[in-house]
Amino acid sequence: MFPTRGYATQGPSSKLEPFTFERREPGPHDVLIDIAYCGICHSDIHQARDEWGGAIFPMVPGHEIVGRVARVGPQVHRFKVGDPAGVGCFVDSCRTCESCRAGEEQYCEDHTAFTYNCMEMDKRTPTYGGYSSQIVVDERYTFKIAPKLPLANVAPLLCAGITTYSPLRQFKVGPGQRIAVVGLGGLGHMGVKLAASMGAEVTVLSTSRSKEQDAHRLGAQHFVATNEPGALDALANRFHVVLDTVSASHDLNAYLNLLRLDGVLALVGVPPQPIPVQAFSLIMKRRILAGSLIGGIRQTQEMLDYCADKNITADVEVIPIQQVEAAYERTLKSDVRYRFVIDMKTL
Ligand code: NAP
Ligand code: ZN
Ligand code: ZN
Repeated sequence: MFPTRGYATQGPSSKLEPFTFERREPGPHDVLIDIAYCGICHSDIHQARDEWGGAIFPMVPGHEIVGRVARVGPQVHRFKVGDPAGVGCFVDSCRTCESCRAGEEQYCEDHTAFTYNCMEMDKRTPTYGGYSSQIVVDERYTFKIAPKLPLANVAPLLCAGITTYSPLRQFKVGPGQRIAVVGLGGLGHMGVKLAASMGAEVTVLSTSRSKEQDAHRLGAQHFVATNEPGALDALANRFHVVLDTVSASHDLNAYLNLLRLDGVLALVGVPPQPIPVQAFSLIMKRRILAGSLIGGIRQTQEMLDYCADKNITADVEVIPIQQVEAAYERTLKSDVRYRFVIDMKTL
């Protein structure tokens, strides 16, 4: 074991503060990564404040991790010291169940070891996330990053990128399709960039009129301010896919009604409260309400390679770790353009 510095919260109403903890020495298949940047996902806030229940404290959040390989175990084949590398939302899984064998490790039938607020595969050792100086991960759960991409802007791909890429692929988004992205935050802005890059016609549905210009710059053809009276009326039955990234309670029926026949509302946002769904919102156009959780290892690497090929990265605001609480507050006010990323040099 070796000591690692990070930022942790001790409970749902505590603040994130400096914290030292132990990480394992790299085993034969492990890489040790010096973390350069870690994105701030809204899931970090939900979990640090225990909004979903079951949180494990002390908690070191962070699952949009990029850095450079500092050490490798003797059996590591895909990485060498100095390589850029990334870690996303989970660091292990059973590797043998049907989901793991299908490359959908995030849906492991035994145990997915999420990067923080979870347990390792022994189900006893807590996992600690990327608001820290280093991390040790099996190379199988570590991603290659194209050296040409700016590392700080790549970090958010590890969660916001894959979480939007995966349902866009699942529901075969492409040319000739009309896609709506609800919520222009970290996930939403990646959803717009990715859906536009796949050739879809993209509409942003946002509560922030001030984001209109950005929506167009990111690749959307249309922008609708959803809190203006009657704003959604003209969009009824219009979209093939609605990608809902909203982090707080909102009326799902209003967005279901925007789907055409057989359209899909892909829910990726995770508001803490249950959301009522009217049967009529679904049955009238044989609409589908679907959920999606991040993406598997294979698809995450595919997404990173796709983004390198198309030169797609996140729009970020890099902050010192001492400003993490202020960044949380701004994120909660939808005042993020479009992902806060912590510069780990400041730790
Ligand atoms: P974010 O950066 O805070 O973006 C959320 C956006 O939702 C805001 O910028 C805002 O956009 C909109 N919004 C916020 N409150 C709203 C409200 N009351 N009504 C309508 N719109 C509202 O958050 P994020 O990091 O993108 O994460 C979004 C959600 O996805 C979170 O719940 C997070 O936990 C979840 N998530 C899920 C997965 C998964 O695997 N499924 C992965 C990562 C994150 P406008 O200003 O444009 O309205
Ligand atoms: Zn996330
Ligand atoms: Zn499994």
